[in-house]
Amino acid sequence: MSKFWSPEVRELTPYVPGEQPRERLIKLNTNENPYPPAPAVEAALRDFSADHLRRYPDPTSFALREALAEELGVDTAQVFVGNGSDEVLALAFQAFFRQPRPLSMPTISYSFYPVYCRLYGVERRTHPLDDQWRVDLDAFPEEAGGVIFANPNAPTGHGHGREAIARLLERITDSVVLVDEAYVDFGGESAAPLVERFPNLLVTGTFSKSRSLAGLRLGYAVGSRELIEGLERVKDSFNSYPVDSLASALGIASLGDHEHFDACREAVITTRERTRVRLETLGFQVLPSQTNFLLVSHPAFDAAQLFVGLRERGVLVRHFNTDALRDHLRISIGTDDEMDSLIEALESLCR
Ligand code: PMP
Repeated sequence: MSKFWSPEVRELTPYVPGEQPRERLIKLNTNENPYPPAPAVEAALRDFSADHLRRYPDPTSFALREALAEELGVDTAQVFVGNGSDEVLALAFQAFFRQPRPLSMPTISYSFYPVYCRLYGVERRTHPLDDQWRVDLDAFPEEAGGVIFANPNAPTGHGHGREAIARLLERITDSVVLVDEAYVDFGGESAAPLVERFPNLLVTGTFSKSRSLAGLRLGYAVGSRELIEGLERVKDSFNSYPVDSLASALGIASLGDHEHFDACREAVITTRERTRVRLETLGFQVLPSQTNFLLVSHPAFDAAQLFVGLRERGVLVRHFNTDALRDHLRISIGTDDEMDSLIEALESLCR
């Protein structure tokens, strides 16, 4: 604690992301993609001239937004980009959720949302998941000052279809509904096509998961022109360059490589389902997942102890030390070989 910190900063509890270990471990703790980025990204990286870095980037990120707009089937003016979807989310909190009415969110969702609430002074109201640990869309009240949830949800893995999101938007018309689609490419259904019908829908996405570019920090939002303009107002007030030139070039290259994209996500989905069966054979309860991770618990073994045992055997997974998730482990989907090592380690621990 420093005397130089403002009272607000003293109150902050920063988000602690999953560990990036120095030693070589099988890393299944931060939902990264086990496969390399598209060959087109590698080619674009080779072709990128350092001389481009002499100039400031395009302040409108037009080419990247245009490529994303084409992919998403919307107008370029309906796309916003930022340094990872975490930054896009931060800007959305400032643009839309700093208002007198509380923001509604599920009790269990991405743990960054409460951090942003504290940082930006947003009051929040939480709503329990349903009895199958799905986000309960009916629980979000009409009078909410905004709604935010991940779809598919993290770390629970279930995703609602587009029709269910449309029904929510027919009810909640008076504030922004933010659907965070960080994991949608692993079997979920994107709500992005609904932005034409619902001016209060903002969908965020990322290049970190299905595009294997977590280190590049590239995220985006798609929504009505008025919502995108709201994000631009906040962004321009503190750094008018959305993303750097290299990220733009590599992002565009990634969007152009459909073949690699489809092959990678299909491989992750296949490995996920194979891993599910093997975990169930070991007695784990495994929640259905449309993401690149599985949330699991074991009726006979303590999750915190399993976490430690796995680490000792060279496998790093995620254990959340919260009341709701203490009994669970979140396991990111790696390569088949990595998952074989995980299962082998669990076999020795769950005897
Ligand atoms: N939303 C959810 C639900 C996430 O799990 C993550 C990754 N931790 C993000 C957003 C942020 O991803 P990024 O900033 O890498 O785009």
